[in-house]
Amino acid sequence: MAWLKDAADAAAILDSYHAASVSGDAPVLRQPPIGPLLRRLDARRLLSEGGLSGDRLAAFLEEALNASTRLHHPGYMAHQAASPTANGAIASLIDGAINNPMNIYEMGAFAAALEHVCVNWMLEKAGWRPAADGKDAGPPPPSDGEPIGGGLLTHGGSLANLTALAAARARIAPEAWVEGCPDDLVILAADESHYSVSRAAGLLGLGARRVRALPASADGRADPERLPQSVARIRDSGERVMALISNACSTAAGLYDPVAEISSFCREAGIWHHVDGAHGASALLSPKYRGCLNGLRQADSLTWDAHKMLRVPGVCAAALFRDRADIDRAFIQQGSYLFHEKDEPGVDFISRTVECTKSALGLKLFMTIAEQGEGALGAYIESRIDLARAAAEMIAASPDFEIAVAPESNIVCFRMKDADDAQQLRIRRALLEGGRFFPSSTEFMGRRWLRLALMSETTRLDHIAALLDEIRAIRSDF
Ligand SMILES: *Cc1c(COP(=O)(O)O)cnc(C)c1O
Repeated sequence: MAWLKDAADAAAILDSYHAASVSGDAPVLRQPPIGPLLRRLDARRLLSEGGLSGDRLAAFLEEALNASTRLHHPGYMAHQAASPTANGAIASLIDGAINNPMNIYEMGAFAAALEHVCVNWMLEKAGWRPAADGKDAGPPPPSDGEPIGGGLLTHGGSLANLTALAAARARIAPEAWVEGCPDDLVILAADESHYSVSRAAGLLGLGARRVRALPASADGRADPERLPQSVARIRDSGERVMALISNACSTAAGLYDPVAEISSFCREAGIWHHVDGAHGASALLSPKYRGCLNGLRQADSLTWDAHKMLRVPGVCAAALFRDRADIDRAFIQQGSYLFHEKDEPGVDFISRTVECTKSALGLKLFMTIAEQGEGALGAYIESRIDLARAAAEMIAASPDFEIAVAPESNIVCFRMKDADDAQQLRIRRALLEGGRFFPSSTEFMGRRWLRLALMSETTRLDHIAALLDEIRAIRSDF
């Protein structure tokens, strides 16, 4: 491949891009109209004629990056996407260059080995027993009753939730795979749950209507006191609870459900407990905040996104199981060219995944953790949560602003007091046009909020003070 110069040029352009992002000199996002953008990129002509290399590639890249969102920018506070490190980018390049679809060991031994070691690392963080190196199947656990955990990396948390719920369905209704889903299964999940939960219910054949509301307090957090009553009511009506999902943390406001109480209830009631930690499970790396997930050890499964707080470029998430037997019966597969007894020195993940071809997700995750070390990664996570708490205190102390709830993660919901719901959105639009700050927005407890997900490692409290000033200036123009 004649690519050394192109790759070096691209790396140099990305390096300046990164510098302009962290300094805050460039706008945090640009959304040019799509028609003129495609013309500037000369996209149509390039598609038919080719020739995108050398100087044309460099020019194209400069133009393209001008219409991007800068996740390393101190004003980036919008959606839960990682601010990637250098090694994550390099891993993506390696993955693209060698293209090893590593779901079977023979198609990518090192990537499969790294997925195996990363899954074990995550299992340990969750308090579950990892498999011995290289042994993802095999003899039953030692006799202390604690099973050997298992898991896999998936292209995203939505797929991890679907995978965990498929495993839950296989436990309660093993016949569903062949016969179709029985009509008495329900899922218990809070209204604040991520939409991928109701999608999974649709895809698994329960139907989104069978997601029943978990009793919750006003802030959307599950209320374990009322759980026994809800489950009794469901059971009295002849239905069975296939799984109960708790948020760790919720997407809108970043609040953690009381995982410990829910877990012990589920254990006693014989209900599969899935913890959706897509965003918030990364707190496990922080000694200060890992208590938010107390009780996780008792749960059955966990979704944990690496492309949110672990700084890994998309898409990389994990579906983890306390007992690997649970994931090993989730899928019943056919395909004699892939699934057969092999005499090989490694592990196949393919029997545990929705995907057939899968990129080297373990490589991206491994190279990111191994660049930083888990201590520095934990310190980054802790610093973002600390910042959210300090920001919320500062906002709550300003007479013209209010916060929705005290933050528990790196997410803060707030609004200008002297503005209605529609005006909060107008404020956001003006901020985006200004290009210095990029917050998101959400509905929560019946009202519209500006929402900060503090993902960028460069954001400081004085940036948030400057954001409040800019909002005041915008509001005075209404
Ligand atoms: C982000 C998120 C998801 C979805 O994960 P993707 O990786 O975006 O598919 C699911 N649940 C929660 C709680 C999340 O924060």
